[in-house]
Amino acid sequence: LKVNFAPFLDEESNRVGIVFVLQDITEAQKLENMRREFVANVSHELKTPITSIKSYTETILEGRVDDPELQKVFLEVVNTEADRMSRLVSDLLELSNFDSNSTKIKKSVQNLDVLIDNCILKLQVTADQKKQVFTKHYSIPPIVANIDKDKIEQVILNILSNAIKYSVEAGTIDIELRLGEDETEFDIVIRDTGMGIPDEDLGRIFERFYRVDKARTRAHGGTGLGLSIAKEIVEAHQGRIRIESEVNYGTKVTICLPFDMKNV
Ligand code: ADP
Repeated sequence: LKVNFAPFLDEESNRVGIVFVLQDITEAQKLENMRREFVANVSHELKTPITSIKSYTETILEGRVDDPELQKVFLEVVNTEADRMSRLVSDLLELSNFDSNSTKIKKSVQNLDVLIDNCILKLQVTADQKKQVFTKHYSIPPIVANIDKDKIEQVILNILSNAIKYSVEAGTIDIELRLGEDETEFDIVIRDTGMGIPDEDLGRIFERFYRVDKARTRAHGGTGLGLSIAKEIVEAHQGRIRIESEVNYGTKVTICLPFDMKNV
């Protein structure tokens, strides 16, 4: 709470009282803290790969690795870390475009079944490697909606790859397509049988850089920005995204979007 005060004067400049201004700065303070935390996070996320790239390249440049095979292993680490930095920077740029309202949503009529199948196809190899099986159950016939295909595909891909990443081997990832609570909307519901998210983390899961287990999720190659980007995209479509979870049982993500067919 910020308090300012000033004398209150009448027409003849006699002091007749004092004006107190009480200003609630908690909101401003909260924003400032969030901004600081964000900058600290970005710096940390960039510093980790940079440190690793520097140490591997220096070791090679100093001639300390004679074995060409080992040199190759080192260069592969450098390459992976550079990829990670590149992913991080493109995710940050994407979020910054949302922040400045310069993201363009390019809608067109899309068949949702085809869109979902496309996403499954792109992740099939990764899912097979972890013996994860995709199942679909649609409570409505295949439908069309007016959406930004690339962006909604990006959301579904992110949710599905999280489902794969945060599940142990041999699980099921189910994709349900159904009418929303309001018939002008539809839901895409993605359920996994993975490790789940503890209750205390659920409320913060859409925050930028928020991860349940930093070390482990970083090892998966994630930037910690996927869900915040997904939320921005869904909200730019006037939709909603929600996540429910139970530790050791699995996670359920519901993406609710308007059909928006009247604008076609
Ligand atoms: P990341 O790049 O780390 O995957 P996300 O923003 O996509 O970032 O997800 C944020 C965090 O939420 C993850 O680090 C993970 O801890 C948790 N999470 C997301 N999806 C799931 C899931 N299906 N099961 C368990 N944990 C999940």
